[in-house]
Amino acid sequence: MELLHAALSASTPTSLVDSPELTSSSSGSEEDRASECEEPNDHRRQARQSSSSNTAPIWWANCILFWGLHLFALVGILVLSPVWELKLKTAMLCFFSWQLAIYGITMGYHRLWSHKAYEARLPLRIVLAGMGCLGFQGSIRWWVLRHRLHHRWTDSDDDPYDAQKGLFFSHMGWIFRKPSYPKMPLIERRDLDSDPVVRFQHKYYLPLTLFFGLALPTLLGASWGDAMGGYIYGGVLARIMIWHTTFLINSFAHYIGEQNYSEEVTARTTLILAILTAGEGNHDYHHAFPKDFRNGPGIADYDPTKWVIWMLHRFTSLVPVIYATPEHEILEARAHVLHSKASRLQDLSSDSEAPNSRIPSDDSLPIWRVDEVTEHVRLLTADKMARGSLKRPLVIIVDSYALDVASYASLHPGGFAVLRSHAIKGRDLELPGDRGRYMDASKAFHGGLNDHQWSAREKAKTFRIARVVGEARA
Ligand SMILES: [Zn+2]
Ligand SMILES: [Zn+2]
Repeated sequence: MELLHAALSASTPTSLVDSPELTSSSSGSEEDRASECEEPNDHRRQARQSSSSNTAPIWWANCILFWGLHLFALVGILVLSPVWELKLKTAMLCFFSWQLAIYGITMGYHRLWSHKAYEARLPLRIVLAGMGCLGFQGSIRWWVLRHRLHHRWTDSDDDPYDAQKGLFFSHMGWIFRKPSYPKMPLIERRDLDSDPVVRFQHKYYLPLTLFFGLALPTLLGASWGDAMGGYIYGGVLARIMIWHTTFLINSFAHYIGEQNYSEEVTARTTLILAILTAGEGNHDYHHAFPKDFRNGPGIADYDPTKWVIWMLHRFTSLVPVIYATPEHEILEARAHVLHSKASRLQDLSSDSEAPNSRIPSDDSLPIWRVDEVTEHVRLLTADKMARGSLKRPLVIIVDSYALDVASYASLHPGGFAVLRSHAIKGRDLELPGDRGRYMDASKAFHGGLNDHQWSAREKAKTFRIARVVGEARA
């Protein structure tokens, strides 16, 4: 997410070439010094004085680097190493260079160092730190500090990639300015400073990232006679791909998707983003349970990063400890969200002014004998005939309620005829032996002809015009 910022920002705000001496964690960045010196009151004062991300000075080095690399990639794939002449090996190099970067970010920068969601032994940390260099997103230290800000003050001015400031800002706009982060001194960093891998990677970030991100792909391409292709596709293009796939989590994963575990922040879950980011697209779970080594807790959730971590834990000694949220906590969070959603939906449906959206209460309905129902039908028929209407009334009896379904007949999924065949007719009363008995559609309604589902049963209730007493005709 943070580009080459470790080189550019954790070290010096001015230029890449000055970075080595200033990236030294022992000398300390501005963040460290603030952390060590400031008192709580200073934090508050600094918060008031901070430059907002919209008015902060433009970060020209980042602008030039970011857009320059995009432009160079375009020239690269069209002129220097045309895409229509792309070798299979070079294409695979591009893919793996991108994928290694993704896992370096998700497994290393994010779940290991940002959230300490599992513990990793030295050899694995070294490998992950190297893979993370392929991300071109700053050193572990630089990245983690900002990511911790993002979690602690999500969707606020203190969130470096605050989604409330718009899609462009949260995706990449934030890297073009150089705001101060007044809450940064409050972010824990001792764990980072005590990890020799983090310190080493921070100190030598620039040469490391240039070597792994650009030089190594070039050398690999050269081994099959395609040094330029290795540089363009395995280096430049793969770096741009990992930028944008990581940025998607800051932007689209806070805009589009489901909220299944928390609705308190903008984080969301999207399968397509999960596929693009080795599982990070399950973002609302991650914000709810950031300490969990999984971003998608379910067995069917697409989260290959969790499987890699789990397999290393299960079959090697490289990952001695993993942290998973207890199942009951996950279920409680899920239930809480579902309950909130259900309440909102119920409010919405009861506020609806759509016709027939209300089910009449029993108290509001008259109680009719069957002959009164028949009489009602007869009166309706007479009325329609008097008005020259060819349509006949359509009243059926279900569950001891008379339903006037004439207005619904043409919409009935089962068709008009089935309603007609179960309708009360004005002459029923006159049939010998039928006095006091009626045509009951209950059996047909509840499975005889069609086992109506809940929504259909609720819909039917809206057509009630009376409660019916009497004996159903067999
Ligand atoms: Zn996170
Ligand atoms: Zn987020």
